[in-house]
Amino acid sequence: MAEGRRLLVAGNWKMNGTRAMVAEYAAGLEAVSGVQLVIVPPTIYLADMALALDGSPISFGAQDVHTQAAGAFTGDVAAGMVAEIGAQWAIVGHSERRAYHGESDELVADKLVAALEAGLEPMVCLGESLSQREAGEAEATVGRQLRSIAQRAGAESLSQAVIAYEPIWAIGTGVTATPEQADDMHRVIRNVLDDLGVPADTMTLLYGGSVNADNAADIFAGENIDGALVGGASLKSDSLVAIARALAAAKHA
Ligand code: PEP
Repeated sequence: MAEGRRLLVAGNWKMNGTRAMVAEYAAGLEAVSGVQLVIVPPTIYLADMALALDGSPISFGAQDVHTQAAGAFTGDVAAGMVAEIGAQWAIVGHSERRAYHGESDELVADKLVAALEAGLEPMVCLGESLSQREAGEAEATVGRQLRSIAQRAGAESLSQAVIAYEPIWAIGTGVTATPEQADDMHRVIRNVLDDLGVPADTMTLLYGGSVNADNAADIFAGENIDGALVGGASLKSDSLVAIARALAAAKHA
């Protein structure tokens, strides 16, 4: 594996969990050698997560950040606020944000830049819909997303992000991409990154879409895949740890 590529498993709780769950969950986590674990709870629980993970090698982040550092944006949270709590990460461009909040690639690019400016590591999500895949447009769709984001944010900013390929049809559906589909798309992403002048072989690329402890090993066999962004299966700490162990085993970490 090229230097710069990291093994990473992130657990996106989405709008799930309770305040009480945070400490219990954190107590159930175990560090897995060679794998960076990242917990992404609802923003309201970030401060509790900071306390619960104090002194732990496990990091945490936000599910979204605003493009602006401050201002009249009722209900939104700035990347700097997230960083101030001690978070290291921000997901940007999750397909649920794109679908339910109308987020465009341009907005995602601005959020990527805002996260970097606040000192956060962005995780940028890309992925095609079922109809786009069925129409044979999956690679073109993901390539277009990547190019639009690079055009707006700049290749240098994109090179500092982790990229998560999350086919929309596989998110929360129990249907995963086959290991071949997943690895093929990750190879396409590396090719597009190369084209854009981003050092693709040093980029950390994650797969997301119904990953769980049972199917993780098959997905991680793909040589272009460096880890996973996990939704539903991340709600139990032992299952997230099992996925991280599967990653370490697959990559001989
Ligand atoms: C996600 O929310 O990014 C995700 C991949 O969800 P799930 O694992 O539930 O499909």
